[in-house]
Amino acid sequence: MERSTPFSYQCNQCGRCCHNQVITLSPYDVIRLAGAAGISTAEAVARFTIGRGATLKFEQDGSCVALTGTICTVHCGRPLACRLYPLGLEYRRQGGERYVLVEAAIGSMGIYGDEGTVEDFLGAQGVELYLAMNHRYAELLASFRARIAEIVDFDVVEPREFWRRAVREALAETGFEPSRLIDALFDADRFSFHASSETELVENHIAGLRRLILEERDAVQLASAAVRLAVSLGYSPLEVIS
Ligand code: SF4
Repeated sequence: MERSTPFSYQCNQCGRCCHNQVITLSPYDVIRLAGAAGISTAEAVARFTIGRGATLKFEQDGSCVALTGTICTVHCGRPLACRLYPLGLEYRRQGGERYVLVEAAIGSMGIYGDEGTVEDFLGAQGVELYLAMNHRYAELLASFRARIAEIVDFDVVEPREFWRRAVREALAETGFEPSRLIDALFDADRFSFHASSETELVENHIAGLRRLILEERDAVQLASAAVRLAVSLGYSPLEVIS
C-alpha cells in the first residue's frame, strides 16, 4: 500500500490487539513510553521492555504490560507499531517505504474501511513525528559503518563470520555480552544534560551515542549495536552490513 491508497480503520478499544504481539521498539519509542508513564528511560526499559529495551514486554497471560483492562495506560506515548496498527511499515532496500496490512487479532472489533487514505490514517495517529525521529537515529548507522571500517581490516577478518556474530549478539535474548552501546541506545536520559524539550533530548542522545561510537574500540560491540539499532528502526540487518 502507498500513502495514497484508500484506507481507514476505527479502533474500538477492545484491547484484543494488545495481546500476544512482538513489538520492536526504537530509541524514540522508549523516550515516549517514559514520558507517558512519567518515569526515566532507564525505568521505562525495566518496566516496559525485554531484550535490553528493544522489545515491548508482554505478560504471561499474553497482555501487554501497559494494558489495564482494555485501556492502554501509555496511550499518548504508545510505540510506533501500535500507532501504525493494523498497518505495518516496510522499508524498501532501494529506498522508500510501503505499508502492509497486518493480520487482525482474533475477535478484534476494529472496523476497516476506505473513507480516507493511508496518509490520512498516519496523520491521525501521530506517526510522522515518530518517523522523523527514527530518521534522525538512522543517521547513526553511517557513523557505525565508518567506525567499523576504521578499526576492522576485512582482508584479515572474515566478513561473513564477523557479521554473523554481530547479528547473533544483537538479537540474542539471553546469554549476550554486556554492551554499553546497546544499553545507551535505549536510555536517552543518561545523555539528557537537562534538555528542555523532547527534540533537544533526542539531539543530545544522538550526540552522546556518536561520541560513544567514536570511542568504542571493540568492533563486534560496534557491529552488534549497529544491527540492534537498524532492526529497532524497522530495517533489515543488511542495512548495516552492506
Ligand atoms: S503499548 Fe498500548 S497500544 Fe501498544 S500493545 Fe501495549 S497497551 Fe496496546
